[in-house]
Amino acid sequence: MRAIRSRDTGPEMAVRRLLHGMGYRYRLHRRDLPGTPDIVFGPRRKLIFVHGCFWHGHACPRGSRLPSTNKQYWSSKIRGNVERFARQLEQLQRAGWSSLTIWECEISDQAVLAKRLRSFLDIPRAGGTTRATDRQSRSPLPTTNAREINSLDTSPR
Ligand SMILES: [Zn+2]
Repeated sequence: MRAIRSRDTGPEMAVRRLLHGMGYRYRLHRRDLPGTPDIVFGPRRKLIFVHGCFWHGHACPRGSRLPSTNKQYWSSKIRGNVERFARQLEQLQRAGWSSLTIWECEISDQAVLAKRLRSFLDIPRAGGTTRATDRQSRSPLPTTNAREINSLDTSPR
């Protein structure tokens, strides 16, 4: 496993580059939404947050390591971040947005990440569109109709 070299690019940039390469288009940091989501897919009503493991208290080695000084300060600050984010997610959900959180430590495995992003973005929301079903039932019909019409037209006189 390779170490993440994100000092100059940042985890969010890595996710954005990946999404862009997969052909998705999005808006950034919409301040009119709770929590100013990092990556916004307006028409799909979907959001992606890219979280630093330390700042958002991820349950991973990087996220649970507190600085050796001011432990009290940092742990209450991070707890505040976690609680605020939970409230913001709830508000977003109520407003009809579905969201995905990508953690900084999950970015190094781009293949896994790409799969997660695709399934999050391409699966319709529950109670949302029924486009997939439409496509399945529509496709066999035109062929059948066309053949019937043809056989009528070429009937001998
Ligand atoms: Zn993490």
